[in-house]
Amino acid sequence: MESGQQLDWKNLGFGYHPTDYNVRCYYRNGQWGEWEVSSSDMITIPMASTCLHYGQESFEGLKAFRGKDGKVRVFRPEENAARMQHTSRGILMPELPTERFLEALDMVLHLNKDFIPPYESGASLYIRPLMIGLGKQVGVSPASEYMFLMFVTPVGAYFKSGFRPSPMAIMRGYDRAAPLGTGQYKVGGNYAASLRSGVLAHDKGYSAVIYLDAKEKLYIDECGPANFFGIRGKSYITPKSPSILPSITNKSLMQLAEDMGLTVECRPVHVEELATFDEAGACGTAAVISPILRVDDLDEDKSYVISKDGNPGPICTALYERLRAIQYGDYPDNHGWVRLYEDL
Ligand SMILES: *Cc1c(COP(=O)(O)O)cnc(C)c1O
Repeated sequence: MESGQQLDWKNLGFGYHPTDYNVRCYYRNGQWGEWEVSSSDMITIPMASTCLHYGQESFEGLKAFRGKDGKVRVFRPEENAARMQHTSRGILMPELPTERFLEALDMVLHLNKDFIPPYESGASLYIRPLMIGLGKQVGVSPASEYMFLMFVTPVGAYFKSGFRPSPMAIMRGYDRAAPLGTGQYKVGGNYAASLRSGVLAHDKGYSAVIYLDAKEKLYIDECGPANFFGIRGKSYITPKSPSILPSITNKSLMQLAEDMGLTVECRPVHVEELATFDEAGACGTAAVISPILRVDDLDEDKSYVISKDGNPGPICTALYERLRAIQYGDYPDNHGWVRLYEDL
C-alpha cells in the first residue's frame, strides 16, 4: 500500500486515491452496531440490497485542512451529520446520531493522518460518509439493514490555474429534481438524474448546468452539485426552493456576507434577475465558490454576461478568501465552525 508521505500533493486532482483505512458500522435489529475498521476499499453486500434497486443511498462530503500551525481543522461536521439525518428521514433510512458520525470522523482521520496534505500544497483531505440500504428483498419497501461507511481521499487544490470565473448553461430540456421530490436530500438518485445534462454541458464547454425550478422554469434552483448565489449592490441573493440541497457552504457564506455588512436575501430568484447581478457564483465544499463568467440559456438563445472583465468580482473574492482562511486556521473561527485536532 502506498503511504501518504510519497504523494505528489501539488499535482493531485479531484480523483479517488486509496488511503489506509475506512470505518464502517451496520444497522441491524433496530440499532447501530460497533465500528469496524477496514483496510480494504471493497464492500460485499447482498445483490438484492435496496440501495442497488431502489436507490436507498445517501452520502455527504466534507473536508479536513492542515493549517500553517500544523493543526487539522474539519469544517462544520455537525452540519453534515444533521443533513445526513435529514436525508435519512426523507428516504426512510435510520438516522446515525451526530455523536456516532463524529466518532467515525475522529477515527478515520487518526487512521489516515499521513494522507492529510500539508498546508502549502493548497490540497485537503476529502471525507465521504455514505449510507446504503442492504437486506435481501425484491419488494419495494425500506430495507431492514443498513451500512454506514466513511472513507477519505486526498484531493488537490480546486483552482489549479487560479480563482477564475467559468461559463454555465441553462438547459431547459432537463430537470435535476421534481418540485416535491428528493432535491432537498443528498441522495445518489439526484446525481443520476443530472449526469446526462452535466456531460452535455461539459462537452459544450460549460463548467455546470444551472437548473431552473422544474414546475414553472422561471426560478433558479441550483448549479448541478452546488448552490447558486448572486451579488447585487450590497445584497447576497440566493434561491429559496423546496427542491435544492441546503448547502453548508452557502449557509456559511450567508453568515460571512452578513458579517461583512451585506444584506442576505433568501427567496425565489427569477431567471431574468441574472441580467441584474454584479457577480454570481456556485458554492459547495469542492470549490467553496466557483465564480460565474456568463450564463447561456441555450434553448432561449439568450446570454447573461455576469463578469464584464473576465475576473471574479470583489465580493466573491472576499467571501472566498474569508471562508478559506477560516478553514485553514488563518482567520479567527468566530462562529465556532471548526472541529480542531491538535494531535494529527
Ligand atoms: C452537496 C451538494 C451541494 C453543496 O453542499 P455543501 O454542503 O456546501 O458541500 C449543493 N448542491 C447539491 C445538489 C449537493 O449535493
